[in-house]
Amino acid sequence: MKKLLTNKVFKDALLAITLPLIALFLQYSLESINNSREWLFFYPAIFVTAWRRGSLPGYIATIFCGLLAVYFLIPPAFSFKLVSYASTLEILIFSFMGISTSFLMGKIHARYSSMSAHSEELERSTEYLSSLLENIPLMVFVKDAKDLRFIRFNKAGEELLGFSRSELIGKSDFDFFPKEQAEFFISKDRDVLAAKRVVDIKEEMIQTRNQGTRILHTKKIPLYGPNGEAQYLLGVSEDITEKKKQEEEILRMIKEEAVLKERELSTAREIFLAKVSTLLSASLDYHETLKLLADLSVTALGDWCTISIINEKGEFERATGAHVDKNKQVLLEEYLEKYPPDKRVVSVTTETSYYNPQILDSQLKSMIKDQRQYELLMELGSNSSMIVPIKARGKVRGSLAFIAGKNKPNFSAQDLALAEDLGRRAGIAIENALLYSSSQDAIRARDEFVSIASHELKTPITSLKMQLQMMLRGVNPERGLTPPPEKLMKALVNSSNQVDRLTLLIEDLLDVTRIARGKLTYHFEEVNLSKLVREVLERFSEEIQFSKCELTFDLEDSVMVYCDRYRIEQVTVNLLSNAIKYGANQPIHAIVKHEAGKAILMIQDKGMGIPKDMQTKIFERFERAISSTNISGLGLGLYISKQIIDAHQGTIEVESELGKGSTFKVSLPTGL
Ligand code: ADP
Repeated sequence: MKKLLTNKVFKDALLAITLPLIALFLQYSLESINNSREWLFFYPAIFVTAWRRGSLPGYIATIFCGLLAVYFLIPPAFSFKLVSYASTLEILIFSFMGISTSFLMGKIHARYSSMSAHSEELERSTEYLSSLLENIPLMVFVKDAKDLRFIRFNKAGEELLGFSRSELIGKSDFDFFPKEQAEFFISKDRDVLAAKRVVDIKEEMIQTRNQGTRILHTKKIPLYGPNGEAQYLLGVSEDITEKKKQEEEILRMIKEEAVLKERELSTAREIFLAKVSTLLSASLDYHETLKLLADLSVTALGDWCTISIINEKGEFERATGAHVDKNKQVLLEEYLEKYPPDKRVVSVTTETSYYNPQILDSQLKSMIKDQRQYELLMELGSNSSMIVPIKARGKVRGSLAFIAGKNKPNFSAQDLALAEDLGRRAGIAIENALLYSSSQDAIRARDEFVSIASHELKTPITSLKMQLQMMLRGVNPERGLTPPPEKLMKALVNSSNQVDRLTLLIEDLLDVTRIARGKLTYHFEEVNLSKLVREVLERFSEEIQFSKCELTFDLEDSVMVYCDRYRIEQVTVNLLSNAIKYGANQPIHAIVKHEAGKAILMIQDKGMGIPKDMQTKIFERFERAISSTNISGLGLGLYISKQIIDAHQGTIEVESELGKGSTFKVSLPTGL
């Protein structure tokens, strides 16, 4: 029933029937005073029906009123018969009036209904928006674009700022915030209004009444009036204080975790490096040590590593390597055998590290020599690589290459630093090994020298002893026996020669010690070099004769030098006795001359000569170009000579060809 009453059709029909019936009733009731106007009350009935319910109910009311009038009011009563034209005309006019009224009123009704529906809708949506603004958990405020004073604030805004709406409305930022902050807010407002665009302030601090300083994320939006000008400024602020705190907390935790991880990692690395140091210091055979280093390195870095060493000649020695998976060691050996490192692959000449955290397949393909190399690289793992130099004695002595496969993380900058550290340590190991081997060489050389020196000293002593014993045997005072004078003379000359030889040897040894201590002293004076050399040659004439060498000389007159006479004589004696010693009984030629403002002394022989690689070395201490068993000598004469000539700011050099002879040339400045 209730449904029926709310049904529109029912309501329309009810009114269209009820009102004509009321009109009929009133017409009857008032017939005595309103006799001639049968239709009077029917018009308002149609009018009201059409106005309230629309055109259609109005038409129905018109028809119903017409029928009522014909039946009840137009004679003959209680019949639908129309007996006169006048009555018919009357009913037609009534119908026309009723229908036109219904039509017009229906239109008005429709307009009115739609208007009221609209205004209801408007009211509802305004209410909806207000409640939305009010209940949204973000601070929403509206400012007047002209003076930037607040004209609206929502509940969340009140709660956040700690001011009631009545305190806020009509005020500006200067009334609530410190001057500088208010100026910042206002400047942003002006930006928004001038640029006519939304401004997003990601973070801003505001001072609230009850909650202290809060951090807001605010968007300011210009609202336009009908003329297109910004009329209001809408602000929406989110309180991100808690979010920020959480973010900061997460960040702090991440950082803490990273520090912890880094600490763990560096402890692991320190342990690893300590192991490496122990390992490297354990042996002085660096080939063996490097293999152990490779084995240890792969436990900390990547999957496999190779170590390539360059020898003194700059050639690569066979590389060594290790794989973390012992089953793949065979493959690695095959790889090293078939594809030994070369300068192209190992950037050892650059001294810098090579770092490729992610090897591209195209890069891999561009460096391989054949398909097998690619297959091996795939099997061994080739996803990330780094190559670091191994330096020793300031030179690159090799390289350490680390490669990680796909199952390992790509090498990081820390890994590279660790690899470089390993490279440095490997370099130190090589350096130590080299130092050790050179110290061994030095010890060997010293031992050899001691045995040669002993031998050299022993020879004249033995000969001296023999002479003395011979003389002793010839002397017997009891029987008045003395050796014949010629024999005695010969023995004394021989003995004196042996003593000279001994003195020379001891002098040489003492000179070497003096040079080492910087205590070789010089007494400079004006000396005629030609005269000095002539005297030495004369002194040696007997020895030259004995050695069967033919001596020629070419001594320019008066070649004057400012020098230590004794020392230059010592140099001449050295060169001449060497020419006799190594001259293979071939002719010897001595020259003294001027050349390009220098005084030149040359001693030429046609003896055994000196190999090219020894021609500089023979001027070093204990260095000899022949085996010690051949011709006796200490390897000191040329060393001392060079030191003396250097002290005179001159030069001493040799030109020699093996088997063809040698020319020693001393050049001295004349005007010292
Ligand atoms: P020592 O003669 O005592 O060995 P030196 O210092 O005088 O020492 O000479 C060094 C080396 O240089 C010699 O051992 C020899 O091998 C080489 N040498 C020196 N002079 C000559 C020369 N005239 N001909 C060939 N070799 C020489």
